[in-house]
Amino acid sequence: MMLKIGVIGAGAIGKEHIRRCSTVLQGASIVAVSDINAEGARSAVTALGLEAKIYDDGHALIADPEVQAVLVTSWDPTHEEFTLAAIAAGKPVFCEKPLAMSAEGCRRIVDAEMRAGRRLVQVGFMRPYDDGYQALKQAIAQGEVGTPLMLHCAHRNASVNESYSTDMAITNTLIHELDVLRWLLNDDYVSAQVIFPRSTRNAHANLRDPQIVLLETRSGVRIDVEVFVNCQYGYDIQCEVVGESGIARLPEPASVQMRKQARLATEILTDWKDRFIRAYDVELQAFIDDVKADELRGPSAWDGYAASVAADACLKAQQSGSVEPVEMAPRPDFYPR
Ligand code: NAP
Repeated sequence: MMLKIGVIGAGAIGKEHIRRCSTVLQGASIVAVSDINAEGARSAVTALGLEAKIYDDGHALIADPEVQAVLVTSWDPTHEEFTLAAIAAGKPVFCEKPLAMSAEGCRRIVDAEMRAGRRLVQVGFMRPYDDGYQALKQAIAQGEVGTPLMLHCAHRNASVNESYSTDMAITNTLIHELDVLRWLLNDDYVSAQVIFPRSTRNAHANLRDPQIVLLETRSGVRIDVEVFVNCQYGYDIQCEVVGESGIARLPEPASVQMRKQARLATEILTDWKDRFIRAYDVELQAFIDDVKADELRGPSAWDGYAASVAADACLKAQQSGSVEPVEMAPRPDFYPR
């Protein structure tokens, strides 16, 4: 049986997910696409030679009886509204990160899902599906470097456009680290601080770049994450775990090593779509398979909420310059670890 999917938002990642559901993954077909700009949705569909209905309203797509599951890939402020509407319609929904614009918004989704009585939401946190992060988690779990004490991380983009602002470094970029690091350590955050080093001249007026985010977990692990979104040279994700007896690093993406012109060099990727391409495939295949088995197991609305609580503390810390507490509600039994 093919799972009939409707996609809300035909921008960069929406097009990517439409392509992978139609040409890479097994067991699903795209039957409807909506975008606030219906022509954008139409061109995304026709570019792949698909026959899917076009809507200019995500709610109409969710109400379409042919749509069995929904992908929300529209811009951030619409995620909560469409995810709640999918839950209300009893349709499983894969929502790109962030799940909502604030922890309160995520909490409304958590509460709606619990009222529905079964898991209907998977958040588009793909890094736990990445081979490198999985190997790193396994090394930690097997005690290869002893108990983790510190993490040094970096999230660098070559450049961002003028609409990207200082807060988006947290809500749109760091949110991936906020999710994957708590998954990696099986821990939660208790405090956050944001430090602004000297700013790059390559950032535009409404962006302070780079930023250093300092996090502390319940078990006392200290984490620093450099977020530098105009680093110029590429898309570069780093994660180093310092343990009691050794250091474990996230592997670099596979790349041919070249010796030429008196240099030893390996390529650095520039596009986020390529860096995690396999992880995106695996996360969406898992969503399709789990919806069919009626048992969603991927990153949950609770994970979306937990990342968002930490993000809210980071936003406060950007303003205050102080160490801000990360205060989460107790985890409901509905969301086992
Ligand atoms: P994008 O290229 O700007 O695409 C967003 C699309 O949504 C645009 O086509 C936009 O239309 C459309 N849209 C806006 N409001 C809408 C509405 N009410 N109904 C339907 N469509 C609407 O952005 P993107 O890079 O694809 O990002 C989309 C989402 O995916 C973001 O939330 C982002 O955080 C997330 N994302 C996640 C990852 C990841 O690694 N997991 C990577 C990239 C993006 P207009 O252009 O006409 O405004």
